Amino acid sequence: MNVLVINCGSSSLKYQLINADNEEVLAKGLCERIGIDGGMHTYQPKGADKIKTDVDMPTHTKAVSLVLEALTDAKSGVIKSLGEIDAVGHRIVHGGEKFSKSVVIDDEVITAIEECSSLAPLHNPANLIGVNSCRELMPNVPMVAVFDTAFHQTMPKKAYLYGIPYEYYRKYKVRRYGFHGTSHEYVANRTAEFLGKDIKDMKIIVCHLGNGASVSAVCHGKCVDTSMGLTPLEGLIMGTRSGDIDPAIIGFIAEKEGLSISEMETVLNKKSGVLGLSDGISSDFRDLGQAADSGNEAAKTALDTYAYRVAKYIGAYAAAMNGVDAITFTAGVGENNISARVQISEYLTYLGTQIDIQKNDMRGEEAVISKDGSKVQLLVIPTDEEMSIARQTVALVGR
Ligand code: ADP
Repeated sequence: MNVLVINCGSSSLKYQLINADNEEVLAKGLCERIGIDGGMHTYQPKGADKIKTDVDMPTHTKAVSLVLEALTDAKSGVIKSLGEIDAVGHRIVHGGEKFSKSVVIDDEVITAIEECSSLAPLHNPANLIGVNSCRELMPNVPMVAVFDTAFHQTMPKKAYLYGIPYEYYRKYKVRRYGFHGTSHEYVANRTAEFLGKDIKDMKIIVCHLGNGASVSAVCHGKCVDTSMGLTPLEGLIMGTRSGDIDPAIIGFIAEKEGLSISEMETVLNKKSGVLGLSDGISSDFRDLGQAADSGNEAAKTALDTYAYRVAKYIGAYAAAMNGVDAITFTAGVGENNISARVQISEYLTYLGTQIDIQKNDMRGEEAVISKDGSKVQLLVIPTDEEMSIARQTVALVGR
């Protein structure tokens, strides 16, 4: 059974075609600059080089049709006809309080996703455009919506409410939702499997450290807290996002600089994080690592501040769960940045864990990286959101 996994943004569309029977990725790709001049489609069939094509894609439907053409191309395609696509799994960013798990998409679900759009105005409408384009081109193929927020819906009220007038929750559903849920769920489950334990017996902290970054507390298989909030801006210091700040800073800087609320949001989303902290060096941890190694103080400060914030969240979630058995690193930085893992782990010895420098000296592999006999285990588990979406799609539509 082949599942097409679609992650549709406002001007881009990422996809993978997965054979769900053997979990082989048959092809993957990316359409960029949809609706803008200078469009580009990158397509990579399994075991072959990337094929890059300059092609304008005025609409998302055009982008999806290019993807389908590439997948069925006589030369570089991986399937003979569209009939070999058995289901489509869509990543949907915000499921609000309506969706606590993945669902088969029908008209009612589409309306409900639209209703969540005010909570994610940049993401949900774009995700839905992807859904509608696929429905137009593959009207008889079952489709599933997998939500970034769903895994976090088990959080208790005390974790998801903010200390602001309750009427804003009642009227507008202002609360913590959390994101990266597909990754947190996958990585928490893999952590338990990898250690040969039942997740129901474990307290796990998952650190999803990518360009966007979040931490979650997974107690006995259920998410009880997570660092992102109403939007993905809260929590950790990220590539370009500020994470937690004193909310009064927004009004203070806006007044000094003559900025509007939406301009301030742009500062906090796009110009902050390690990019802003390093005084503009880079949002990429490889660049920052190199700059710090060659003595750049601003880069060093950005990396120190980043690691300190992650360690503080781990401490908070160990308290939230009254203990922790495993702390798992994942995503671009978590999987690949050896020195960031060391820096974060240096704050955690009070928990009864010590990083093993030799075991930690690797990238992108599943591994325990704490010393033998550590009370709390440290792990690296590469995340695989697409595979998780494909599995959830199969689980809902059947083989
Ligand atoms: P996104 O949130 O965009 O999906 P990723 O999970 O791909 O982000 O993570 C991107 C981050 O991972 C970048 O900051 C990049 O520097 C970092 N990263 C990737 N590979 C390495 C590496 N080998 N060493 C250090 N950092 C890395």
